[in-house]
Amino acid sequence: MQFIPYSRQQITEDDIAAVNAVLRSELITQGPVIPRFERAFAERHAVAHAIAVSNATAALHLACLALRVGPGSRVWTTPISFVASANCALYCGATVDFVDIDPATRNLSVDRLREKLEDAEARGKLPHLLIPVDFAGLPADLRELRMLADRYGFAILEDASHATGASYLDRPVGSAWADATVFSFHAVKVLTCAEGGMVTTNDPALAQRIALLRSHGITRDEAEFEFAGSGQHGPWYYEQQALGFNARMTEMQAALGLSQLGRLDTMQARREALADRYDTLLAKLPLILPARRDDRRSAWHLYAVEIDPKRSALSREAAFAALRAAGIGVNVHYIPIHTQPYYRRLGFSEGDFPAAERYAARTLSLPLFPALTNAQQDHVVEVLRAVLS
Ligand SMILES: *Cc1c(COP(=O)(O)O)cnc(C)c1O
Repeated sequence: MQFIPYSRQQITEDDIAAVNAVLRSELITQGPVIPRFERAFAERHAVAHAIAVSNATAALHLACLALRVGPGSRVWTTPISFVASANCALYCGATVDFVDIDPATRNLSVDRLREKLEDAEARGKLPHLLIPVDFAGLPADLRELRMLADRYGFAILEDASHATGASYLDRPVGSAWADATVFSFHAVKVLTCAEGGMVTTNDPALAQRIALLRSHGITRDEAEFEFAGSGQHGPWYYEQQALGFNARMTEMQAALGLSQLGRLDTMQARREALADRYDTLLAKLPLILPARRDDRRSAWHLYAVEIDPKRSALSREAAFAALRAAGIGVNVHYIPIHTQPYYRRLGFSEGDFPAAERYAARTLSLPLFPALTNAQQDHVVEVLRAVLS
């Protein structure tokens, strides 16, 4: 068999036609497709506002700024995520801390958060913002997080980069609980624009600030102008009202995203079917499988297993090497952020978040993407069985 990657984009002829149509049109940077993609995405996620940006890293950065994160702010997130979930706070001059994970869901632990909040309250060091991550596509414990946010007065920026189309208590992620939610459309994610990101929110003022920051802090909307009578300046007039960035998406990216969005349910159903098959096929192996929760539906961005130390002495390093040598593109999600050299220089060390570190030492992400065939999946399972026995 050919090499099977852990993730792979699915690009159809319709996707290609949609991008081609933009390339043949007048407008390739900013045009009509971006707002269409934003509206369709907002509708699919049952939320008032969706703002498309160049990637999820920019989305996190702009959302932090719009939520007034700045020097002196404290931002908490999970160590089991891509570094971007923490870096966004540092871009704003804030300080970052982490909350250890729930070993079952691998999401930020509500119990650890509650303890940390009690301690922080006693010391007068409550966070301004929490960034929970819907790890592997499984929504975080959003209702409990919202209750704690309301009690302690911090905002929630949900990093749903893994979770486009997922739902919690029958509502799409991005529609409720969080103050703002970020999605990634990188090629390995469940929906792709090659590069791309989105912020959703029900707060119109927040949406407006993010849209302003996306494009240099400049507005051309007369209703928003700060200088009285500026409408008299003429149609060339615009105002820079904040120090923004160029974090815009292109029309080609939006066309690809919009086309993919039309297939999101089909792609998600295939991911679910493959996850169900893994659950069955792997049941007897010495592995800890991803948790399921009746009150939420995962987007199944990743199928991450752990080698169960009670039932296997095989190291993750040995399993990883054997699988890669057999052409199975396993991966590791993630190296805990606080153990990265950059974060150690900020004062973190190994041992700070033991549940995250234990998980990270044992985990492997198995191939999972819509075009993975049952035969390929059977092959992955057979190789894994041989490696573990
Ligand atoms: C991929 C990812 C990001 C960054 O997304 P980009 O679109 O590549 O910038 C942020 N957070 C998480 C959890 C991710 O998986």
